[in-house]
Amino acid sequence: MTIIVLQFGATTGEPITVAWGDGRLRADIRQEETCHSRQMNPTMKIIPIRAGEPAPPRLPDAGEWSRTEPLHDQRGRGVRDLRISVTDRCNFRCVYCMPRSVFGKDYPFLPRAELLSFEEITRIARIFVSHGVRKIRITGGEPLLRKHVENLIEQLAALPGVELTLTTNGVLLPRMARTLRQAGLHRVTVSLDAIDDPTFRLMNDADYPVDAVLEGIDAAAAAGLGPIKVNMVVKRGVNDACVVDMARHFKGSGHIVRFIEFMDVGSSNGWKMDEVVPSREIIDRIDRVFPLQQVDPNYVGEVAKRWRYVDGSGEIGVISSVTQAFCSTCTRIRLSTEGKLYTCLFAQHGHDLRDMLRAGADDERIESAIAAVWLRRDDRYSEIRTANTAGRRKIEMSYIGG
Ligand code: SAM
Ligand code: SF4
Ligand code: SF4
Repeated sequence: MTIIVLQFGATTGEPITVAWGDGRLRADIRQEETCHSRQMNPTMKIIPIRAGEPAPPRLPDAGEWSRTEPLHDQRGRGVRDLRISVTDRCNFRCVYCMPRSVFGKDYPFLPRAELLSFEEITRIARIFVSHGVRKIRITGGEPLLRKHVENLIEQLAALPGVELTLTTNGVLLPRMARTLRQAGLHRVTVSLDAIDDPTFRLMNDADYPVDAVLEGIDAAAAAGLGPIKVNMVVKRGVNDACVVDMARHFKGSGHIVRFIEFMDVGSSNGWKMDEVVPSREIIDRIDRVFPLQQVDPNYVGEVAKRWRYVDGSGEIGVISSVTQAFCSTCTRIRLSTEGKLYTCLFAQHGHDLRDMLRAGADDERIESAIAAVWLRRDDRYSEIRTANTAGRRKIEMSYIGG
């Protein structure tokens, strides 16, 4: 895999798109910019956008495994959480996820025919549930942009013993919360990166106001989609000054804010370690104003570390994917919008199930393929992250979902 770095003396501010090889490996010339000043850096890079490996690896055979036993990977981890991305499109352009300079108007989002249908998704999900998945999260892109997503929810809600959740930027919730609840959705997680309006607009880069998201949170709560988790990605120098205000706003509301370390997902967000605010620092900042004490996890492998306010007015969480890796208990698998399985958020390629489905494979064959992928899984990216691994070409967060 190649990343070509070009040096230009001056910039126009517009991304330049190039197609490469068979056209699948598409790239934009992206400009690096600083958070506050937004001044252009004269260094420009060509950055591949999608998980455009020339050809997906052939699915290995499952080998010896029992259809009735839970699946365990090479590190003894079971498969418990399935995250399903239903679209790679979004109405936001969050600077840490879909920078506008890369995800511009010419960006080649997946055509409709390439998306898994709701029936195909449900068929795969049912097989996962029979092998131990107990939690399904619908994500994207912005999942509420997928037409009639409530029909998918209805199908998934019929699977036995599954907690069904959805992560959203929230602005479509006033319109959709009640329908989603009626379809069988249990909870939502809403992303909100600042309670300060100008800072939030800077983060979402699509001019959405804080109030639009707060209305979404209220609508979700009123529809019975709580307890609501509110995700805030913290980027040093951009929104980290809003951490305490964010905690203050939701303290006592019953909603749980989770502060997330800015991650090196994908290849387009220009991640740098010095823009990560360690969770320890976030806890210290809040604790100085609102004293906190740590709480036991709800279950083994819970991603967020829990802290409660000493005065009993609720709890917050921190997700320390960069500074305190939690790979040893990672039970998550991801299904992309176009039907590829990814065993790690930082994977470089996935395992295609869509071709199998559309070629008429029976459930047994698909089950074997899924088992083979999980049995051979050995991922632990966050434990081995270095400046070098951060620069690898990886799948984009907006493609695979958080
Ligand atoms: N569009 C929906 C939303 O924003 O909630 C769902 C998809 S979004 C990719 C899922 C979650 O990933 C969001 O909470 C978002 O803030 C988080 N996220 C995206 N890029 C991230 C990054 N580079 N580091 C940490 N979290 C990130
Ligand atoms: Fe869209 Fe969510 Fe990514 Fe923001 S974090 S650009 S809302 S997919
Ligand atoms: Fe799981 Fe990969 Fe994240 Fe580790 S880096 S916790 S293996 S998704």
